[in-house]
Amino acid sequence: MCCEPKNVEHLFFTCDISKIFWQELAVMLDVNHFLCYEDVARWWPSNNNHAVINMASSAFMWTLWKFRNDLHFGWGKWSGLQVIWHRILCLLKRWRVLCPKKRYAKLDKCLAALESKAAEAPRFLPC
Ligand SMILES: [Zn+2]
Repeated sequence: MCCEPKNVEHLFFTCDISKIFWQELAVMLDVNHFLCYEDVARWWPSNNNHAVINMASSAFMWTLWKFRNDLHFGWGKWSGLQVIWHRILCLLKRWRVLCPKKRYAKLDKCLAALESKAAEAPRFLPC
């Protein structure tokens, strides 16, 4: 996705593109920040109290990994951040069955925010 050296830490956290997603996901999910793996993992032991945070962060990381593979193996090409937002949105809609019913309102709020992001005009293209 970018021209910098590739490793897992870069892909998920230190890449400028990843940082944009984490910053916007943090706002969507009302979380201070996601700067590293520990910031993501600290929400896991929550007895489903933070199910939407965990679902959204997992959906983002899975989507980014799949998207990176699509680019790496030539199955897709870069066409802007909204493609990744759209993929996260579709994945979270499919994962709705995994969400505790008492967290549906928060999930729906997150899905609405993702729909907005997916509908935005492209605004950033890497080198
Ligand atoms: Zn990068």
